[in-house]
Amino acid sequence: MLGLMQDWPLLCHRIIDHAALNHGERQIISRSVEGPIHATDYATLRGRALRVAQRLERDGIREGDRVATLAWNTWRHLEAWYGIMGAGGVYHTVNPRLFADQIVWIVNHAEDRMMMIDLTFVPMVEKFADRLRPIEKYIVLTDNAHMPATALANAVPYEEWIAEVDGDYAWKVFDENTAAGMCYTSGTTGNPKGVLYSHRSNVLHSMMAAQPDAMGVSSRDVIMPVVPMFHANCWGLALTSPMVGATMVMPGAKLDGASIYELLDAYRVTFTAAVPTVWLMLLSHLEGNNLKLPHLRKVVIGGSAYPRAMTQKFQDDYDVQVCHAWGMTEMSPLGTLCSLKPEYAHLTGDARLDIQMKQGHTPFGVEMKITDDEGREMPRDGATFGRLKVRGPAVARAYFKESEDVLDAEGYFDTGDVGTIDRHGYLNITDRSKDVIKSGGEWISSIELENIAISHPKVAEAAVIGVRHPKWGERPLLVVVRKEGQELSRDDLLGFMAGKVAKWWMPDDVVFVPEIPHTATGKIQKTALRVQFKDYVLPGAAAAE
Ligand code: ADP
Repeated sequence: MLGLMQDWPLLCHRIIDHAALNHGERQIISRSVEGPIHATDYATLRGRALRVAQRLERDGIREGDRVATLAWNTWRHLEAWYGIMGAGGVYHTVNPRLFADQIVWIVNHAEDRMMMIDLTFVPMVEKFADRLRPIEKYIVLTDNAHMPATALANAVPYEEWIAEVDGDYAWKVFDENTAAGMCYTSGTTGNPKGVLYSHRSNVLHSMMAAQPDAMGVSSRDVIMPVVPMFHANCWGLALTSPMVGATMVMPGAKLDGASIYELLDAYRVTFTAAVPTVWLMLLSHLEGNNLKLPHLRKVVIGGSAYPRAMTQKFQDDYDVQVCHAWGMTEMSPLGTLCSLKPEYAHLTGDARLDIQMKQGHTPFGVEMKITDDEGREMPRDGATFGRLKVRGPAVARAYFKESEDVLDAEGYFDTGDVGTIDRHGYLNITDRSKDVIKSGGEWISSIELENIAISHPKVAEAAVIGVRHPKWGERPLLVVVRKEGQELSRDDLLGFMAGKVAKWWMPDDVVFVPEIPHTATGKIQKTALRVQFKDYVLPGAAAAE
């Protein structure tokens, strides 16, 4: 017997309808790419999104067509997302930090029919536009006055383009499982893979994200998504913020410490989220200029591991609550967030920080487990580590244009991460499965070693990779960038680390390098390091041969 409730498909444009009707005057403030601060509200934004949808339809965009966006976080980008989705199209956020060849590959693979592009990226795309075969038209996200002379095919300024319609348009209605958005993983191994979100997955993910133990945001918040809309679905914030009716502050093209501080302060931002690199820049700006953050309540940090000192500084020096988060593009992207359950809420000092450095626990809607290489589930004891697998309505089951599902027999997706789960459900990521160091059949966490090395005051950056060893299979090699002008020897650093990890985890050697290679999303590129050190002979290894 079926229930007798209404059929109300979970469509993303219902979120902007809700925001416009119930929080219509709430502001969206942006640093425009042209320079000045721009302010609008949800009611106006919805009206313009309707024009985008109507105009796209006039240009021949139909249900399922992909429209690329190569853009910073601004009101126009937000309107574009809702307009594209409301016309039945699929927003495809392209990461401008990728190499030209990757962008070309992704756009061709996605078969994007149009590209909405910020002024910043016009010169870059002109260089390879002839290879972007499916793009019929470029919409430059600006007005006539700022429109550059460009060689891009059929380029038009956004403002004039949407002014050609009146906005008298009704959103398309379709099945909630219809594709809504798309984001490619960075493809550090092999070609990038297309993750295709549905309306349903985006709406459910937003509901999950808003919960008190997840992001915990409301209409009283002023949310600044520093995480770009092109990075992992904007961590859901482009949908969650209007869903709860929060004020939004969009940082545009400027993500340096001074620019971020200026917005945090001027618009009394209460909630923000981004990767650790952004917060390093902000903290150094605050320290250098003796500034405070009286309005900021909470900062979500995720995307990669980061030093404990970052949490300490935010909390102790600036009275800002840190929430560590883990997720991935394939998960829409939130997987876990580290709010404190009653079992841990009473902790103070280092014990509290120990828990806060974990990636946290799942909201309703994400199931996770850890297994060994054979798929056998491992205990949730906070010590045993295994391959991390996840399941849920906002987790990918297959990649775009790949017919095979990527799930195990029980419907779980293998994240490629390795971690522990404790008895209260807190995840601690110890590695990527391809980065974990397998020494004599046991696993050594490269992240844990890196975290200890990076806590040395003279270390700027550290990476640990497994290097071939005749006796143990692999042993850890620590690669370090010293802070500028600092002297630090191998023995000093190893001496500092001794006693902080099991003896057999200690790196066999340390090499100092001027820099460590990074991926387009700012993560350490271990594949490149492994190539660089593939013939490295560890001390004592030759003797064991
Ligand atoms: P990209 O590599 O393009 O940034 P994702 O954002 O999808 O793509 O990357 C997801 C991966 O980032 C995760 O599988 C995990 O390895 C890593 N990651 C994300 N959050 C954290 C975190 N809080 N701590 C450690 N690693 C993290």
